[in-house]
This record gives sequence, structure tokens and C-alpha cells, in this order.
Amino acid sequence: MAAKWKGIQLCETPNCGLEAKLQCPTCIKLDIKGSYFCSQSCFKESWGIHKLVHKKSREVESSAYNPWPFYTFTGNLRPAKQTPRRTVPAHIARPDYADTSIPLSEQKLRGTTSIRVLNDEEIESMRVACKLAREVLDEGAAAAAVGVTTDEIDRIVHEASVERECYPSPLNYHGFPKSCCTSINEVICHGIPDLRPLVNGDICNIDVTVYHRGYHGDLNETLLIGDVNENAKNLVKTTWECLQKVTEMLRPGVKYRDVGTVIQRHAQSQNYSVVRSYCGHGIHELFHTTPSVPHYAKNKAIGIMKAGHTFTVEPMISEGTWKDEQWPDNWTAVTNDGKLSAQFEETFLITDTGVEVLTRRRTRGGQPYFMD
Ligand SMILES: [Zn+2]
Ligand SMILES: [Zn+2]
Repeated sequence: MAAKWKGIQLCETPNCGLEAKLQCPTCIKLDIKGSYFCSQSCFKESWGIHKLVHKKSREVESSAYNPWPFYTFTGNLRPAKQTPRRTVPAHIARPDYADTSIPLSEQKLRGTTSIRVLNDEEIESMRVACKLAREVLDEGAAAAAVGVTTDEIDRIVHEASVERECYPSPLNYHGFPKSCCTSINEVICHGIPDLRPLVNGDICNIDVTVYHRGYHGDLNETLLIGDVNENAKNLVKTTWECLQKVTEMLRPGVKYRDVGTVIQRHAQSQNYSVVRSYCGHGIHELFHTTPSVPHYAKNKAIGIMKAGHTFTVEPMISEGTWKDEQWPDNWTAVTNDGKLSAQFEETFLITDTGVEVLTRRRTRGGQPYFMD
């Protein structure tokens, strides 16, 4: 740093000693104060040493944010700062938890096992909500790239929801601070969008739910960011295949508990494991309700599929252990061993003859983003 002499800035170049008024442009950009040069030639001469100041500043910047010094992370991902909560215009219908954070209508049904059968009108409402949810995910996914922050994806998801007269369902659900979940690498689910830019080689899941005129639609996809290694690609592909195999088996009369058998068999064929702490769920006027749909084999899920049931299946498949833990933000679920986890989700309607994928992609022949 330059010395100050009787209120005058002196040139940073060793042994120069002249008064200095020029500031390095990178220093201005990085908000580094107190570094001055007398002339371009002194600046050039000092460059080799001076540029270390930038490096140091960048290191401090990236390591400075550690909200939980007591916590041992399982992998390499770290939280970054979050932006302030976004708001939804008053003319858009809001779920009951939007202001209080507590989904009272869901809690009232706690302990019940009966599964609602939707009538034709309710089914049509679900079709619309789920179609809009897919459009919103498509917008978020299109923006995901190296250098883009998950906060920026959240902003796009939020605005795309509002444009379609939708309330972004995750916002304030049990206090969740953002409008979608973004889950990177070892994050299994419920990652909170923040100011970390996506890095080449990341896998990033975007989970979107919207609430439109009283009904929720819910889906997610895992995306490849830049050049992703073959192991990670295979995990993402296998996870998607698990959901495809489920889609093929869904029809009236199938037991909800059998979904997990199909998922686990395929995951294990690639030596992957199935996360057990988070399940698929019934969804309609409520965000999360009966049935509960575990993704692992030998589960004890209750219920048999009937025409008019609407629910999600959303397998989370991990490279190493199936065990998860939570960051101290009480949301971000990560693998216990820091290895990768991927996820895909759709909202399904059981029909008289089979199934309708309400959140299906309507472009690119319906293929997932990792194949684009
Ligand atoms: Zn879900
Ligand atoms: Zn979801």
C-alpha cells in the first residue's frame, strides 16, 4: 500500500516518492483503497508486485463469507450471500402460508391417509398450473450457464411466475426465503439460490413450483453446466432414467410403495444409492399432501393409484451414500460424504388408462435439458 505523507498520496513504486494521483483501474473495480501511482510508467514498473494486491483482495472476498464457522461441510460447495426477499403483486392469488409461512390447510390433514380424487374441473386446473410451472422452469433452465448466479435464476423464475399470474410456491413455505430451489453438486434438494456464480462442471437442479388460481404444479430437472465429467453425466442420466421407468409403470391399481422398487433397482444397477429422507407427494390445492411416495425399495407407503390422483415422483440419486444431512440454514440437504446427487421431478395425473405427465416438456420432443 502507498504511504501517506502529510495528507499527500505518494507513489506506490518503491523508492519513487513522488506525489501520486493515478489509481489502478482494477483496484477501483475491486474497491481497493489507498493505492496510487505518480505515472503510467511507475504503474507499469510496479505491476508485477502490485497485481498481488488484486489476488489477495479476491481471496479475502471469496473466503470472507462463512456464516457457520462451527460447521464442517461434507463437500466443496459453500453458501454465498443471499439477496433480499422478492415480493409478489397483490392481485395474484396466494397460498395460505404466503404471509405467515405456516401451511395451515396442509397441517389440518396431518395423520390422514386418504388420497383426494380430483374431479374434471379440478384436473383441468391442475393441467393449467403444471403447464405454467413447466414454462417457468424452461425460462430458468435457459438462463443457467457458467458465471450465472443461482440468485439470477431465482429472479428469472420469480418474474416468469408473476408474468403468468402465478405465486412461486416455495416463497415463504415454512419460511423458505426464495422462489425456487437450486441444488448444486452434493446438494440433494432444497438449496437456496444465492450469489454464487455457477462454475464449469457443476450439475445444478432447478426445482420450480407455481401456485395458479388455487392449484400447485411442481417439477425439477438437473442441468449440466459447461463441460461436465462423464461420472456426473452418468449420474444425471441414470436419475432421469429412474423417473422414466416410473412413468412407464404408473396406472390405476399400482401400489404407491412399488414406485421405489423400480427406482432403486435401476439406481443400484449403476452402483448408485437412493436418498430416503425426501419423498414424492400428493399435490393439488395443497403443495405437499397424501400420498407420500418414497423412492427406495421395501418402503411402507400407503395407497393404491386411482384415476384422478395427482402427485409427484422426484427421485434423488446419489453417487456414494444415500445418507443426507442439512446445512445450518435448516434447508440445504447435502450428501453425507460430499459426493454428487441428482434429481428429476414431474407432477403426474393418473387417468383411466394410465398416466398423464402434467409437467412434461413440450419442446424438443420432451427430452430433458441434459440432452439438449
Ligand atoms: Zn415436489
Ligand atoms: Zn419440486
